[in-house]
This record gives sequence, C-alpha cells and structure tokens, in this order.
Amino acid sequence: MPATERRDSIVVGGGVAGCTAALYAKRYNLDVLLLEKTAPGGQTATASGIENYPGFPDGISGPELAERIHQQAENHGVPLQLAEVTGLEAHGDDWLLHTTQGDYVAATIIIAAGAHPRSLEVPGEEELRGAGVSYCATCDGFFFKGETVAVVGGGDAAIEEALYLSQLAAQVYLIHRRDELRAQPYLQQQAFAQPNIQLIWDSVVTRIIGDGQVQALELHNKLSGEDSRLELQGVFVAIGYVPATGWLGELLELRDGFVVTDQLMRTNQAGIFAAGDVRDTPVRQITTAVGDATIAAYSAYRYIIERQG
Ligand code: NAP
Repeated sequence: MPATERRDSIVVGGGVAGCTAALYAKRYNLDVLLLEKTAPGGQTATASGIENYPGFPDGISGPELAERIHQQAENHGVPLQLAEVTGLEAHGDDWLLHTTQGDYVAATIIIAAGAHPRSLEVPGEEELRGAGVSYCATCDGFFFKGETVAVVGGGDAAIEEALYLSQLAAQVYLIHRRDELRAQPYLQQQAFAQPNIQLIWDSVVTRIIGDGQVQALELHNKLSGEDSRLELQGVFVAIGYVPATGWLGELLELRDGFVVTDQLMRTNQAGIFAAGDVRDTPVRQITTAVGDATIAAYSAYRYIIERQG
C-alpha cells in the first residue's frame, strides 16, 4: 500500500488485545487495519485450556477462544494484513509504519504486539512445552492438582505462581539461581510461611527430563557444583517476559522494555497507544488485554475527533 493511503488507525499485533482494539475501532467507525506477523491469536492460541475467561463456565481451548475473537473482529469488517512491523516514525502529524510488506500511514497507532515468556533454553524445554512445561500457573496449574511441581525464578511472578500452585499441588519446589529472592518482601514472607513450598537455592535447571510428559529435572548447584535429579510432574518457568518492542527503537518511553502508558493507554507520543502484554502492567491476562484494548480504541477515537476540532 502506498504511504499516501492513510488510515485512521493501525493496530500492530493480532492477539486478543489487537483484535479487540481493532473491533472497537471499527465500532467507532474508524478506518482501521490490523497487522499481524504470523497468524492471529497470539499467546492465547497456544494455551491448552482457558478456565478463567468469563462467559465460558466449562472453559474453552486457547485456539478456539483466539479464533472466536479474531472472527468477531472480521465480522465487524476489520481487514487483516500479514506483515512484520520493522519500524515506526513520525510522518507530519501522522505515523509511518515500516513493514515487510511496505510502508503504512495512519493518524493513530495501537501497539498490541505482545510479549512472550522468557524461556530457560535447556534441553527438553521445547519438546515438553505443554506436556508438563508451562509458563502460566493461572492457565495450567489446575492440571497439577495433588502433584509435585517446580517453579523456576525468584521475582514477583515466580513467588505468585508458587503461592497459587501451593493451593493445588501437593508439593511446590521454588528453584532460584541465587541465595536471595528478587520478589517483594511481603510475597517472600508468604512463600516462606507456606509449608508445601520448598526453596532450592543457588541452583539452575540444566535439563528437563520426560518421555512425552515431564518426569524430572536435572539441577546444578552453583555453589557446591553438585548435580541432582528432582522427580516431579510439572515445571513452571517464571523468569520474566520479553516484550515485542525491539522495532520501536528510542521512539517511546519503555520500562524494562515494556511500553509505558497512562490509564487511557496513551504513550508519551501523541497518537500512539498500547494495549495488552506489551504494556508496562502488573497483570498480564486475557481479561486485562481486552480491557486495555477497549480503552486504547476509545482513546484513539477521541484523539482523532479532537484533532479534527
Ligand atoms: P523479574 O522481576 O525480572 O524476575 C525474573 C526472575 O527470574 C529473577 O529472580 C531472575 O533471577 C530470574 N531469572 C532470569 N533469567 C533467568 C534464567 N535464565 N535462569 C534462571 N533464573 C532466571 O520478572 P517477573 O517476576 O516476571 O516480574 C516482571 C515485572 O512484573 C516486575 O517488575 C515485577 O515486579 C512485576 N510483577 C509484579 C507483581 C506484583 O506486584 N504482584 C506480580 C508479578 C510481576 P535474578 O534475581 O538472579 O536476576
């Protein structure tokens, strides 16, 4: 598309946040385009079962929920373009997006490019993903009722995951690479007080073992140099998230790589908004992505109306 064909709004990312933002933009009668790198659905499309999204009392599979949300946007007339966004810059009062399919111009940009959980990058992790290896206790914890699981990490997320899992699993091991947790003290105290959470300090996972399903972890103690084996059924990796913001360069204010917004999802650049997991936010759930996206589309609409006077 030539740069002169200007849209009201372009949404970057076709996950739940992106599809919802585009749907709402359409309902505000904006000329909106949805850009997605691979296929719509985002992280939701990879979740095995979703039991905490309201309206589905018996749960719903991730791919089905993702497909339904994208279908809803499509039914509203949201066009989808498969393209990877590589850069963003000012273009007069508008914004110019560089993509693998050419340049696009829009009055407003809604960034919903998401984030993916950081992986351990150890043998067995990729093969056993979804077969005992998980990156979300809220999503998958229920499948480990009465079992033995481990959480890897020492930040707020790891402690929250361990506390959540301690209500479901029989035994939770918290494996941290140092002798001190990074998490906030009040979370640490809760974890230390929980009888079925056991800390394994100064240790890293070197291998995830299993034949079709996780059976054990291979651990390496960094202080003693000893290697050991821990038998369990599930491992939850909570070592931070990697946001998809590399293509933004220095344009926006970021915190730890995530886009900083105000409560109206406005970034520090007029006309650019952010929603969902790419945003600097304490909670990354489908429910919060949907809420962010609704507000981002509203703010984009208000921005266009106010600019028109
Ligand atoms: P985080 O704070 O970056 O913590 C990541 C943890 O994983 C750290 O303990 C780190 O160890 C460890 N780690 C990193 N790479 C590792 C590797 N390759 N192998 C083993 N361990 C590794 O990430 P987060 O816990 O996801 O939290 C992200 C942000 O969200 C933080 O700002 C956090 O405060 C916020 N958050 C807040 C809440 C809340 O307020 N309730 C809940 C969740 C998240 P080191 O400590 O040794 O670096």
